[in-house]
Amino acid sequence: MIDVGILGATGVVGQQFVRLLDGHPWFRATWLAASERSAGKRYDELAWRLASPLPQEVGALRVAPLEAIGDAPPLLFSALDSSVAGEAEVAYASAGRLVVSNARNHRMDPLVPLLIPEVNPDHVGLLDVQRRARGEGWATGGIVTNPNCAVVVVAMVLAALRRFRPARVTVTTLQALSGAGYPGVPSLDAVGNVIPYIGGGEEEKIENEALKLLGEFDGTAVRNAPFVVSAAVNRVPVPDGHTVIMSIDLAASPSVDEVVAALDAFTSEPQARQLPSAPPKPIIVHRAQDRPQPRLDVHVGNGMPVHCGRVRPCPVLGYKLVALGHNVVRGAAGAALLNAELLVARGMANAPSGERGDRDATQPVGRT
Ligand code: NAP
Repeated sequence: MIDVGILGATGVVGQQFVRLLDGHPWFRATWLAASERSAGKRYDELAWRLASPLPQEVGALRVAPLEAIGDAPPLLFSALDSSVAGEAEVAYASAGRLVVSNARNHRMDPLVPLLIPEVNPDHVGLLDVQRRARGEGWATGGIVTNPNCAVVVVAMVLAALRRFRPARVTVTTLQALSGAGYPGVPSLDAVGNVIPYIGGGEEEKIENEALKLLGEFDGTAVRNAPFVVSAAVNRVPVPDGHTVIMSIDLAASPSVDEVVAALDAFTSEPQARQLPSAPPKPIIVHRAQDRPQPRLDVHVGNGMPVHCGRVRPCPVLGYKLVALGHNVVRGAAGAALLNAELLVARGMANAPSGERGDRDATQPVGRT
């Protein structure tokens, strides 16, 4: 077992980390940190907002302040609010900790991998470039990020269709309330309503992060993918699950059946390595005309698959479809967990650059 810590353990994403790490075959949560509002308290004294029971061992841990860098284990998940994540993650990374982050702050840094293991597993190589460039302290440390919760859905679909050469993509999102953290959107704004705006540059994140994710890593840098994305985002009164309506121009002009077959057959490195959090099928294609739906589909497979349906011709861009992903699992905690599993499986979680070999994922992982 590898001991891991959680930065921002008390928030919406932090609590999902605690849930997903409970019983994990490789990782064990042994250290938690959050703001000064929570620091010093036992974790089970704080509000637990998930339907599953709080794991007892974690409940007994005392929450550390963000400054307690020296006490943190070598591998950390970050679910920190973006107002503090930028500086804090750098401080931990430069102290030799490998930070696997959900926050937006470092995603577009040219030295930081923006990673979805099914989409661009080779981009983990950027961690070596980062460690060499940043120098002392970073030899075992570093920052690896997962994308925005809506981008995960978009990028998985485009990765499955990559061989058809996406050229132009429009994205309209219907995003769940849990995407805004806790306590999130005021109830009087959210109930019975659709809000056609999400702050923090949500549309720009979708438009930019998708290009980095689908870009090419040449061993030193990532060159952005050559397509364009136009995004329009909406907050809707759904608890969990971002629905994404996409129209796609595919330069190779496949038939609709070929598009469906490519989505259905999509598989990648996490499935080949059988990483513990990898869904057997990363994309579940629905044939019923009224699916996917957040209430019916988002919790399938522990929230890790992306769902796709209503694949049909689009008179403007050629193809249109509806996709769905669990924003807090596949779009946040589960995404980071899968990233960490890939790093361990590739032998990059702790070993300094040049002193590692690919881990055989079927062999047990040693304690750090
Ligand atoms: P959240 O519920 O608001 O939780 C924020 C966490 O950050 C809490 O643990 C909080 O600790 C901590 N924090 C806030 N201010 C702090 C400070 N000054 N010093 C130390 N810790 C501080 O937010 P969330 O939804 O879990 O999101 C966490 C991160 O993941 C954000 O960067 C967000 O953008 C990203 N993300 C979220 C989602 C999603 O669907 N929710 C998806 C993808 C990415 P206290 O409880 O002690 O205040």
